[in-house]
Amino acid sequence: DSDRHLLLSRIRDVPDWPEPGVVFKDITPLLRDPAAFRTVTELLAGIGGEQVDVVVGIEARGFILGAPVAHRLGAGFVPIRKQGKLPWETSTASYQLEYGEATIEVHRDAFTPGERVLIVDDVLATGGTVRATVDLVRGSGADVVGVGVLMELGFLNGRDKLADVRVEALLTL
Ligand code: IMP
Repeated sequence: DSDRHLLLSRIRDVPDWPEPGVVFKDITPLLRDPAAFRTVTELLAGIGGEQVDVVVGIEARGFILGAPVAHRLGAGFVPIRKQGKLPWETSTASYQLEYGEATIEVHRDAFTPGERVLIVDDVLATGGTVRATVDLVRGSGADVVGVGVLMELGFLNGRDKLADVRVEALLTL
């Protein structure tokens, strides 16, 4: 529909970035366009529905999208960051990258058991980042009501790692 075309038209393909052979999906034109930015925020908020206590945003583009979604839902916001960035005590989760390993962290007091959490990020690729995030949130006793991403790269089969959680993508490429 028209929303889909608007969003697609504001995502730029950057070949061979950050390394040869990768086509990077650059969302900065979408963020720059007021109508497109608003549309994404509204649609991601709709995935969460009424009963979201906390929106979790994954560094760094998940912060840009997740914070306005939290504001719109009347929810709080929790950042999930790469290792070594959060100032206080953290819980960590590690996952495999194509080459090597990545670690993400969240503050240990970020959630109260039973709280309803919506996870937001820009791109679902291999699914490792969202998988680790779901595990961190559940490990703290909170409930993941869903994962909302702007874009899913379907050919990377990230959903295979996420069979136990509701994942919704505004665009599937
Ligand atoms: P995954 O763990 O392989 O699913 O990678 C997802 C993470 O990498 C997300 O936090 C994305 O922000 C980032 N990412 C992977 N590919 C792209 C891309 O083409 N554009 C923007 N971000 C990407």
